[in-house]
Amino acid sequence: MDPTTTYAWCFSHGRMHKFVAPEGPWCSASWLPLGEDEEAAYSAKAARVGDAQFMDDLPLEVQVEVVDECAGQG
Ligand SMILES: [Zn+2]
Repeated sequence: MDPTTTYAWCFSHGRMHKFVAPEGPWCSASWLPLGEDEEAAYSAKAARVGDAQFMDDLPLEVQVEVVDECAGQG
């Protein structure tokens, strides 16, 4: 586990992002932080939103939830 690495699912690009310090998050779209471990991040993503790739793939109530947790917006 590398504490300088953060995995995040990006609902704007429809794929996993890997942010590495000190560069940090380079994507300014809507992404859901999923921790430091790649495998765990994919599991967590599947558990939260299943196969959904983009925000539009999610039911509205889940979108609202996810948007709240998404970082890097705007
Ligand atoms: Zn992105």
